[in-house]
Amino acid sequence: MATAVLNDPSEKSANLTDFHGVEPHPSVPTRKGIAKGQLLIDGKWRDSSSGETMTTTDPTTEAPITAVAKATPEDAQAAIDAAYAAFEEGPWGKMHHEERAKILFRMADLLDERADDFAIREAMDMGMPYTDFRTIIMPHCSGLFRFFGGQAMSAMNGGYRTSYEQTIRILTRREPLGVVAAITPWNFPLALTCSKMAPGLAAGNCMVHKPASDTPLTALALAQVAMDAGVPAGVYNLITGPGGSIGDVLVKSPKVDKIAFTGSTSVGENLIRNGADTVKHMTMELGGKSPNIIFADADIDAAVQAAFWGIFWNKGEVCVAGSRLLVERPIYDEIVEKLTVMAKAAILGDPLDAKTQIGPIATKPEYDKILTYIESGKQSSARLTAGGGTRKINGKGLFIEPTLFADATNDLKISREEIFGPVLPIIPFEGEEEAVRIANDTTYGLASGIQTRDLGRALRIADRIKAGTVWINTWHKYHPNAPFGGYKMSGYGREHGAEALENYMQYKTAWANLG
Ligand code: NAD
Repeated sequence: MATAVLNDPSEKSANLTDFHGVEPHPSVPTRKGIAKGQLLIDGKWRDSSSGETMTTTDPTTEAPITAVAKATPEDAQAAIDAAYAAFEEGPWGKMHHEERAKILFRMADLLDERADDFAIREAMDMGMPYTDFRTIIMPHCSGLFRFFGGQAMSAMNGGYRTSYEQTIRILTRREPLGVVAAITPWNFPLALTCSKMAPGLAAGNCMVHKPASDTPLTALALAQVAMDAGVPAGVYNLITGPGGSIGDVLVKSPKVDKIAFTGSTSVGENLIRNGADTVKHMTMELGGKSPNIIFADADIDAAVQAAFWGIFWNKGEVCVAGSRLLVERPIYDEIVEKLTVMAKAAILGDPLDAKTQIGPIATKPEYDKILTYIESGKQSSARLTAGGGTRKINGKGLFIEPTLFADATNDLKISREEIFGPVLPIIPFEGEEEAVRIANDTTYGLASGIQTRDLGRALRIADRIKAGTVWINTWHKYHPNAPFGGYKMSGYGREHGAEALENYMQYKTAWANLG
């Protein structure tokens, strides 16, 4: 087989697995056939009621991977009805917390056992490097089921309180919401589904999942894991198909109590409007344009690594990508130069190749969109120092070079809009005040980063940044117990941590007159 990577691997800068302090995964994966995907409704796999399918495509080879059922609005309704019946009549919501926890722990074990299959699916479907997935994403996904299994046993408890009158007792109890519809995007499909499914099921809800049409392959394998772990029929339903038609059924149904959404801010706004008539609970994990601030006193090499992986991990197709780099004047030229060297040496390639640092863009529309932003950068006052072009392997593949625009200003289109690709504007600043002003000058508020040796300054600025996550002297750290979510137009509600479970349950207060 011809070479599967571009650039000389011996020149490569540290890999992401080094950045995270984990060993690369030793497996040597290969592409494989994936069976046709069906809908999971009420515990049974079946075709779409119209018989229609859609095709998923491998962005490395640009060849079709497999066909997946294209659900109709009637299928969406059947999935809602199954979840509703399972909630109203089935055992799940009434099951002892420990029994539910055991099933979630089994799911975690099955995810670990089937990690290889999940990683190959994600590499073929989304273009994520296999080794990043195996070493970073997969342990996080199974960890979510262990964490929320544990939470199920403790956090669902109630209380016994007193009131003004001696004879009155107040009993509080946490209950599931009912039916939760999870709608997820094409990037990080498995992780973003697990971050809804684990707390949603732990709290006792029944669910309908609609993954993005472009990357449904891990959702199919995850639904099978749920079945094999003993999640009862109807508790977890999967419908694959177009957001507009079947998403609408989920968002408007009076039988659906909550929408757990991750996706773009514009679709999120639409969902909030469409869910208003039935007063839906909602969590909104939306877009970002996250500032990474490097101060002159930072550990320069570590800061360059954080900046590089902050934007280029998963080819920049990350909601929390450090997609605006702010650098203090005295070290500005040095940082630009080091990043430029690193970007030019980055290894683009087949995500199944262990040497690959940067895989292909997940879909052709995204690829085209990113190229229009690169063109906008080239036409702007900013200076292109690396990338700006596309690459092919054996004549195929949606590869875009890691692209840097130095001397950018915060008012440029590339600095204001979410590009969702490997493109980084680098903006100079002078002093803390200007750094904070530029960092907060965005409609988004998802993530941010501060690179400095001065911990006092780091914490002072962390308080002032309007974003749900602040990474200090690092980037891309996640844990099932670390709340994750946005400020401003990046959304509301939190995933991960006990805070996430709160978003999947409601409180009941019973007043007892002891007479
Ligand atoms: P998208 O908003 O286009 O689609 C997200 C999901 O919504 C898909 O499943 C889609 O089919 C569905 N959908 C589309 N229209 C719908 C409708 N009218 N009703 C119901 N569902 C509908 O987003 P995308 O392009 O798949 O993902 C990229 C976006 O997601 C980026 O903006 C990124 O920042 C964001 N994102 C956010 C987070 C976070 O945690 N905040 C994480 C990952 C991605």
